[in-house]
Amino acid sequence: MVDLKRQYEKIQPEIDEAVIRVIRSTQYINGPEVKEFQKELEEYLGVKHVIPCANGTDALQVSMMALGLEPGDEVITTSFTFVATVEVIALLGLTPVLVDVDPDTFNIDPEAFKKAIGPKTKAVVPVHLFGQCAHMEPLLDIARENGIFVIEDNAQAIGADYLFSDGRSQKAGTLGKLGCTSFFPAKNLGCYGDGGAVFTNDDETAARLRMIVNHGMEKRYYHDEVGVNSRLDSVQAAILRIKLRRLDEYAAARQRAADYYDKAFEGEPNLQTPERSSFSTHVFHQYTLKTSKINRFELQDFLMSEGIPAMVYYPVPMHMQKAYDDPRYKKGDFPVTEDLSKRVISLPMHTELDDEQLRHITEKVLSFFRKQ
Ligand SMILES: *Cc1c(COP(=O)(O)O)cnc(C)c1O
Repeated sequence: MVDLKRQYEKIQPEIDEAVIRVIRSTQYINGPEVKEFQKELEEYLGVKHVIPCANGTDALQVSMMALGLEPGDEVITTSFTFVATVEVIALLGLTPVLVDVDPDTFNIDPEAFKKAIGPKTKAVVPVHLFGQCAHMEPLLDIARENGIFVIEDNAQAIGADYLFSDGRSQKAGTLGKLGCTSFFPAKNLGCYGDGGAVFTNDDETAARLRMIVNHGMEKRYYHDEVGVNSRLDSVQAAILRIKLRRLDEYAAARQRAADYYDKAFEGEPNLQTPERSSFSTHVFHQYTLKTSKINRFELQDFLMSEGIPAMVYYPVPMHMQKAYDDPRYKKGDFPVTEDLSKRVISLPMHTELDDEQLRHITEKVLSFFRKQ
């Protein structure tokens, strides 16, 4: 699905030099590389504070801790997401309230969010799934009117631009009170291990986040609140600095591959290519097709047999997962999510796809449909 080897080989001298530099510096935790990366990412995103942490799941967790959410508080998010979003809500004793998604963007439906608001609603987590922003403008309005914190799960859309109706644009993850991201290797800005970060323009929340990720202390060995240990390694920060400089170039390579796929599948009536919304650029963390009239697991097996990876993100919605079984929800509650989870399939998507590979992949996909 991703070709991290070829990507690494193109920047190998720079990466190797940086990694060795950190090892020789012996400043493995919170060294200068972390501070520099933090500053560079703040500048890239146009956000006041970036708080690095250990992974994207932690970013979501410490965000909810920093906002002072308490057991019983409700947090609204979608059923069509990666588990981490719902996991941290449950882990903190908060109540996840699930809503359906928009069938074209796979992202939270602002109207569904509005309908789900109750007296205990404290936060909403729009997930910018597959590389494209949720419809944030109406969502931000609804959240503001109801005094609800917005925590963007931006693990899949770092670098995407949200386009406001007045012509302004802003980087994904910087629109809400907090934005969370992951530097997992396969993400658009991936390191060579685990990593994550929280973004915010709010000084007070930033200060609190910096304390929480560091055992709840500001002054060493004086703990003002219960925190966690969640830090970004200096080695990972050094790698991320190099890759951040190429993030836009990487996004362009992904967009180019997506355009190739789009064009190739134009004439196939049983394949729906990903929608490009008017309010967001798309950085194609995934290239996800909606299939009709086929069993996409058969397509997946066929592609596998041809040496082409394909994945289903995500086959089971959160409200139908064993771990999140909840008497409030049952099969049929989120028809769009359930329909998507039966139809979607994602093709290889990364920065190193060349025309030869794209031609091979698209020809094999189309040949499967011709055989039906
Ligand atoms: C990857 C991902 C996360 C979690 O990130 P990790 O770094 O793997 O913990 C959270 N939400 C979404 C939508 C993701 O894709």
